Amino acid sequence: MDIKSNYIDLLSDLSKIKGVGKKTSDLLKKKKINTIFDLLWKLPKSYTDRSKSTKIKDLKIEENQTITIIPKKYQFPRIRNLPNRVLCEDETGKIECVFFNSYEGYIKKILPIGKEITISGKIKFFKNKYQLTNPKHVSENASLIKQKHNSYSLTEGLSEKLYNKIIKEVLSKLPNFKEWHSNEIMKNFNNISWNNSIKELHKPENIGKFQEKFYQRLAYDEIFSTFLVNSEIRKKIKKIKKTQKIINLNKQNQIISKLDFTLTNDQNKTLEEINKDLGSSNKMFRLLQGDVGSGKTIVSLLSAFNTVNSGFQVALMAPTEILARQHYLLAKKLFHKDLRIELISGKSSYKDKKDFLSNLSKHKIDIIFGTHAIFQKKVEFKKLGLIIIDEQHKFGVNQRKKLSDKGGKNCDILLMTATPIPRTLTMTIYGDMDLSIIHEKPKMRKPVKTYSKLENKIEEVIKFIKKEIDLGNQIFWVCPLIDESKKIDHESAVKKYDFLTKIFPNKVSLLHGKTSIEEKEIILNNFLSKKFDILVSTTIIEVGIDFPNANVIIIENANKFGLSQLHQLRGRVGRGFKQSSCILMFKSNLSENARKRINILKDSNDGFKISEEDMKLRGFGDILGFKQSGVKNFKLADPIHNHNLFLLAEKEIKRIENTNQDISKFKPLIKLYDRADIINDIA
Ligand code: ADP
Ligand code: MG
Repeated sequence: MDIKSNYIDLLSDLSKIKGVGKKTSDLLKKKKINTIFDLLWKLPKSYTDRSKSTKIKDLKIEENQTITIIPKKYQFPRIRNLPNRVLCEDETGKIECVFFNSYEGYIKKILPIGKEITISGKIKFFKNKYQLTNPKHVSENASLIKQKHNSYSLTEGLSEKLYNKIIKEVLSKLPNFKEWHSNEIMKNFNNISWNNSIKELHKPENIGKFQEKFYQRLAYDEIFSTFLVNSEIRKKIKKIKKTQKIINLNKQNQIISKLDFTLTNDQNKTLEEINKDLGSSNKMFRLLQGDVGSGKTIVSLLSAFNTVNSGFQVALMAPTEILARQHYLLAKKLFHKDLRIELISGKSSYKDKKDFLSNLSKHKIDIIFGTHAIFQKKVEFKKLGLIIIDEQHKFGVNQRKKLSDKGGKNCDILLMTATPIPRTLTMTIYGDMDLSIIHEKPKMRKPVKTYSKLENKIEEVIKFIKKEIDLGNQIFWVCPLIDESKKIDHESAVKKYDFLTKIFPNKVSLLHGKTSIEEKEIILNNFLSKKFDILVSTTIIEVGIDFPNANVIIIENANKFGLSQLHQLRGRVGRGFKQSSCILMFKSNLSENARKRINILKDSNDGFKISEEDMKLRGFGDILGFKQSGVKNFKLADPIHNHNLFLLAEKEIKRIENTNQDISKFKPLIKLYDRADIINDIA
């Protein structure tokens, strides 16, 4: 880093700042400020303008004002509990400074008789006199007082005066970085340097000036550095050389021709992208993104098939056993004679498992399905060529980075997610992967009709589902998520089950958090084979499971869910050819915000659009739990307000990638803004 000795190292500990001892730095650490760099983002919340002074005759009562006065006389009464007073004046009038609990020595020091002193504070008028009680802003040096004084939301024990001093000290010693952005980019920000931007950022009068160039520049730095790191991870994974897979399109097309539907254009396109990666000599690290029901499974199974035909093994991991089993059964149906396919499940006997393991290690199994159990240490493959991970949206960048090392260099990796994210966030959240997107849903599919109903109108809902059941359709009934407590969720599901069984005897089943895995499988399989009609459950109905015959979902207490989550739940239905319905139930009249959300759902079945709206309403951290996934929390940048900066950064990254530009000039930026393990990897 370009640091001269009188500059401060921004990544060093706070104790490197003059005047900061252990006590202060401990206090700051409580606020998650660990380095000097962290300190730069703790911004003033408001300020008091003490810069303009006035004369005593023009003082306004109950306002913060600054005056220059001359102390004339001390009144230190000898009686306890009476305040000390100092009579002061300017050429226009008199004012009294009143001190409670202050030592005479201190008072004499700050207000020496006959000297010109500048003071600032809230002025009172009492018994016909102006008063200033316990003045805090007092100095012989008028310029120290006549300023804008920042206030921060600080932790207890840390004074604003000290904090202002610390910030001032740091700002005066900012390292002098060489500009890392190109001239082209800098034009967008009127060429304001990083240093000057930081200084502007801390000026009290700039609080909340999000549209100013200095602010935009700093937000861009954050976005760009995140994108750059992601891009570098992606490049690094891609550089790993592997044995090319030879794709047998004939065999692939034979399978496709046996399907009872034709693939959508997007399914074909994404399959081609994956095949191209499999056939290349670079390791694949690709995300297949597509809304619920867009048909990702078949694309992934065809890639698995192609990989096997090229002489490799495949592991497909799903988040739950039921989903793993559903994929397994589909694969059996599609490839029955051609491939050796197995499912590792919690139910498999010890002997079976031992056989699996032995067969896997001898390449007697082509595709293995299972939950994360398939990645246990003792599971060894002879020739693993592809790992497919379904519904992975909660993995963060770091988890994915670890994953990219799995399976050795010949192993390609395909992740799948049904979580559409707003366009602006793609690079932030998935920028370390290549992306294949299925936008288009299978034709013939009718959008789910979405309704909202007050809870006390339950009779109407019952009538409606009676009709649906008579038509041979099945129903999901999702019970309220009352709070985080599983116990209450459970009770409400049980109650609803009792209620519904009375109306629909022998037609209802219940699934909740306490149902054992074995029982759950039986219930879901019975639902799949239409042994009952209504499945009451808490929100545990799995992502990804395909129940083509279920066409109604009822979601109670729908206001407890975010938009994207409701969309995911709604995605449980509407996979077949029938018209499906989603009924959102509410306890009481909807708030303005809730009404907005319901209308968005009613108007759109497009997960991408819904996620955009969800972000606008709730902020991006809440989009389906991305917060927990270690997705970067930006300090200034905001995907809604800085939409254009995200796009600008994306364009710039693409340019850098395409022109193979040396990125070493960005090292200081990455070092400042990003996590150390990643820097070490790419620097
Ligand atoms: P998801 O993308 O949510 O994983 P699935 O792969 O489970 O979706 O597919 C949902 C349903 O759509 C399945 O029943 C599947 O058989 C069906 N399907 C997939 N592709 C098509 C298509 N091109 N045309 C019609 N139905 C399809
Ligand atoms: Mg799926």
